[in-house]
Order: sequence, then structure tokens, then C-alpha cells
Amino acid sequence: MVRSTHGVNCTGSCSWQVYVKDGLITWETQATDYPSTGPDRPDYEPRGCPRGASFSWYTYSPTRVRHPLVRGVLVEMFREAKARHGGDPVAAWAQVTGDPDQRRRYQSARGKGGLVRVGWAEALEIAAAAHVHTLQEHGPDRIAGFSRSRRCRWPRTRSAPGSTR
Ligand code: SF4
Repeated sequence: MVRSTHGVNCTGSCSWQVYVKDGLITWETQATDYPSTGPDRPDYEPRGCPRGASFSWYTYSPTRVRHPLVRGVLVEMFREAKARHGGDPVAAWAQVTGDPDQRRRYQSARGKGGLVRVGWAEALEIAAAAHVHTLQEHGPDRIAGFSRSRRCRWPRTRSAPGSTR
């Protein structure tokens, strides 16, 4: 039995006990050992939804996406911009999102298919470049981490006087 959760964009991060046999997930049950929230409010447990309860088989579904997919028009523009900016992914992202025509082209392609498979390194580079660009342009408070936010501490932009950070 291992402790885990479901990364399905639900923001829940509920704690589950996942039972594994011969390397395969067999079933899972909700964890019931959350710390108390105090005497004046109800405790968490149990947490979990039907989607989470069915995740054991969903993990092995033949329709599960197993590779990064990016809108084709976006990844092409990103690659061209990266080459133009000497391999700088953040500058490339700034160009693609800052150009009204390029922005309209990749945004209007949403929901129309046209996804292409890319490698993990390129997918992570695009995501990281987008985050760094947002941090630089709009500040760290424009990126939210939902229930994982307490573990996802962003660097401070303004240090207190005398601080070494
Ligand atoms: S049980 Fe449901 S809400 Fe909780 S982490 Fe899993 S999918 Fe998300």
C-alpha cells in the first residue's frame, strides 16, 4: 500500500491509500488520518470523489494520454521564435504571447484538434518559459498553486531590509 493522490486538474490532492499487486494498481481507499482542524470546525475526513475512486482502472485506460501534446500552431511559432532569439525560451514565449497576431492564431486554435506530440523536455521548457515570463512581467502573485501552494513557494521579489534572501 502506498500513499498517493490524483493529478487530474481537480485541485483536490486528496490523500488515498493505493494498493499495488505485482506492480499493478488494484484498488484504493480514502485516507482517514488527516490532522485535526481543531475543536471548533469539522475535520476533513474522508476526502475524495467518485472520479478519484475510479482512478485505479482509469490509470490503465487505452484512451489515457501518455505523451505531451501541444497545439501544432503554437509549438511551431515557439520553435521559430526560439531560433530567432538565440535559443532563449523565455524571450521566445514573450514574443509569441506578445504579438497580437500570433496570440490570436494559437488561441483561436483551441478546441479544434491539431495537437502534435512533443518530447517531455520541450513540453517542460514551454511550460517553464511561460511561468518565468509571467513572473517577470506580472509578478509572482499571478501564479497560483491551489492546494499545493504551500509547498510551492515562489522566490520573493522584495526582500525585507537586512534580509539575505
Ligand atoms: S479524490 Fe477526486 S478531488 Fe480528490 S484528488 Fe482524487 S480526483 Fe481529485
